[in-house]
Amino acid sequence: MKNLTAVVTGASRGIGRCIAKTFAENGYNVVINYSKSEQNAIELKKELNENGFNCEIFKADVGNYEEANALIDFCIEKYGKVDVLVNNAGISQIKLFTDITPEDWNCMLHTNLTGVFNCTQCAIKEMVRNHSGNIINVSSIWGQTGASCEVHYSAVKAGVIGMTKALAKEMGLSGIRVNCIAPGVIMTDMMKDFSNEELDAIKEEIPLNQFGTPQDIADLALFIASDKAKNITGQVIASNGGMVI
Ligand code: NAP
Repeated sequence: MKNLTAVVTGASRGIGRCIAKTFAENGYNVVINYSKSEQNAIELKKELNENGFNCEIFKADVGNYEEANALIDFCIEKYGKVDVLVNNAGISQIKLFTDITPEDWNCMLHTNLTGVFNCTQCAIKEMVRNHSGNIINVSSIWGQTGASCEVHYSAVKAGVIGMTKALAKEMGLSGIRVNCIAPGVIMTDMMKDFSNEELDAIKEEIPLNQFGTPQDIADLALFIASDKAKNITGQVIASNGGMVI
């Protein structure tokens, strides 16, 4: 494998952690971004380094432009380039629309959409110079269909889909592919507030009668980043057990 480098945002826990691990285990130099869960990031780096894989950790709030810029600069200083950017960092919140405060709205926008803009704009300058690169955005099934009591989450995740499509058109001639993964229900901390009864009811609506795993999303991201997907750009690729067809 060529000497390839990936930055994975929100890689201290959940889906991002699994994506970072999978990319490292498949030969990528990986920058593991985290915001609050420093200990988790340190443990992941230790585990990967002990197994002979290359990775570094970097603390940055992706919604802050300067911090996002520092994350990408760190990757370029350490590994010379950014081949893949996985915009995975995200937060969720369940609230009635009428209860969403302006602070809730801004917070959702800050991490889930501004964060994607910040990291992408910083990384893409380097990718244009190299005439090569892969941006993989993690949206959500709710960005495709909308979820009751998650209007702000659904809105920003739909924004990520729009951004993916527009940017793919703008960047194609620069040799950069931009795609989006839309996970269904994936068992991570993000789902911890759902009761077993609620989860059972959701599962009944899924044709494959199963929830996804972080590994399902990591394997899909690895495929999208690979040359096997060299003709794929601007796409929203769902991994949802058939929950939305
Ligand atoms: P998770 O387990 O709650 O992990 C979220 C990750 O995002 C953590 O590593 C967290 O890092 C990081 N993060 C949060 N705010 C950040 C910020 N401002 N800057 C940098 N990192 C930040 O969630 P998950 O389930 O893995 O979700 C990952 C992505 O998949 C999200 O974009 C989510 O919307 C999407 N998704 C998830 C599901 C699902 O069912 N789980 C379904 C559809 C889409 P710290 O702890 O270090 O702050």
